[in-house]
Amino acid sequence: MAAQPQSLPATIPTVKLLIDGALVDSKTTEWRDIVNPATQEVLARVPFATPEELEAAIASSKKAFATWRHTSVGTRARIMLKLQELIRRDTKRIAACLTAEQGKTLADAEGDLFRGLEVVEHACAVGTLEMGEHLEQVANGVDVYAIRQPIGVCAGISPFNFPAMIPLWMFPMALVCGNTFVLKPSEQDPMTTMLLAELALEAGVPPGVLNVVHGGKGAVDTLCSHPDIVAVSFVGSTMVGTHVYRLASQNGKRAQCMMGAKNHAVVLPDAAKDASLNALAGAAFGAAGQRCMAISVGVLVGAARQWVPEIVEKARSLKTTAGTEPGADLGPLISTAALARVTALVEAGVKEGAKLELDGRGIAVPGYPKGNFIGPTIFSGVTPSMTIYREEIFGPVLCLMGAETLDEAIAIVNANPFGNGTGLFTRSGAAARKFQHEIDVGQVGINVPIPVPVPHFSFTGSRGSKLGDLGPYGKQAVHFYTQVKTVTARWFDEASTAGGVNTTIALK
Ligand code: NAD
Repeated sequence: MAAQPQSLPATIPTVKLLIDGALVDSKTTEWRDIVNPATQEVLARVPFATPEELEAAIASSKKAFATWRHTSVGTRARIMLKLQELIRRDTKRIAACLTAEQGKTLADAEGDLFRGLEVVEHACAVGTLEMGEHLEQVANGVDVYAIRQPIGVCAGISPFNFPAMIPLWMFPMALVCGNTFVLKPSEQDPMTTMLLAELALEAGVPPGVLNVVHGGKGAVDTLCSHPDIVAVSFVGSTMVGTHVYRLASQNGKRAQCMMGAKNHAVVLPDAAKDASLNALAGAAFGAAGQRCMAISVGVLVGAARQWVPEIVEKARSLKTTAGTEPGADLGPLISTAALARVTALVEAGVKEGAKLELDGRGIAVPGYPKGNFIGPTIFSGVTPSMTIYREEIFGPVLCLMGAETLDEAIAIVNANPFGNGTGLFTRSGAAARKFQHEIDVGQVGINVPIPVPVPHFSFTGSRGSKLGDLGPYGKQAVHFYTQVKTVTARWFDEASTAGGVNTTIALK
């Protein structure tokens, strides 16, 4: 066995599986290090669950569904009330774990958790959300009502960039609707998600109602093809999401896949300049650009094409360092592989003729010489054929393009293969109305750079950013995690004849 590097503790903690209400050690031989992206310290090791462990998790959820589906709405809602209280209690602890394994700043880690907490709060309203419909007297003495019932064992597969928010988009809504759930967090940063799973147990989620497994493609493919799983919710890249959607659909499951992005901000010359450019810089470089709703393309319209120097100045003023450092604006990328990929894409941009206005490659971050850092990077003169425009970079790289008119800018956005988020910066109500009407993108911000909808609505997306019609939270999630049953009912009393024998299909 190879000697352990000096910097490692004698024993590195291992991430547990959650199976049937117990945190258990995996028997696998396949492990992956969870690495602090600012320091390269190995924080823990995560197992790739064995086929037997995956089977045990699914079997546990199947068994638990038989009783959980019959719990009262109030019981389920009260567990969610308790969960939101526990998340508030442990916010600092969870955010610290999130920053250590994912890299984003502590303030942004709390934001990640808060956006998930909002979904838990909304789940507490399940009694109203799940309410059915009732129509009296559709025929003589006949009423029809529609009820929503749980569907069974559901699965969730989440990405690395929001290890708190996205698992919280998934299991609270599934559980509160009466389903059981098998969650597979990202293998790059599963520790935050495990803290949330432990809080779910503490809140009163019974054994088997929530199981958590770890792994990569093997675990995902099992969840998408197992006969006892009825629905799969996926959030991650378009490449993997497309595979998940096909596999789950082929196996007869409901599937929803929220996927990759290339989000454009369109800036009109009548925009409030300083506020708009602040918003643009924050949305492009916050979380080191590792948000599915990050603004990665700025389309400067008309005279706003002259605003490049101000954007560069704002980007230059941002502080790139470990997420735990005071005043940090952006932290490191998740892995050395991600850094190498983003660096290669910046090189491709230079080679293909874009103008590198600000180069964040190779920046020195005092105290963190080994971190996966790249500072804010800006290209101007970007064209649709360039690799930096076609690919989702997922780093702090902003591509600037120019357009003569709003119509031209809308055409650019609508021709891009992705349709996740977009923003318009203007003081014109007429321009904003035209933009929201004509743009083919799921989330639209009007002077709001990262328009992630609150959970009273649902996250959405179009074209290459989403497969499946229903979104992961809000009312759409209630529809995704329930099936409708209609009841057509008539009650006879002794004197009823209901008009004698009826041999037609019509209700009389
Ligand atoms: P990813 O697609 O690499 O991984 C997502 C999940 O899929 C992980 O749990 C991972 O273990 C699993 N996975 C990875 N490779 C697989 C394979 N070959 N087969 C089956 N499963 C596999 O995504 P990521 O890098 O973790 O996250 C970043 C991506 O997620 C970006 O593209 C981002 O835009 C997207 N994202 C989208 C949204 C949204 O709501 N649209 C939100 C967050 C992130």
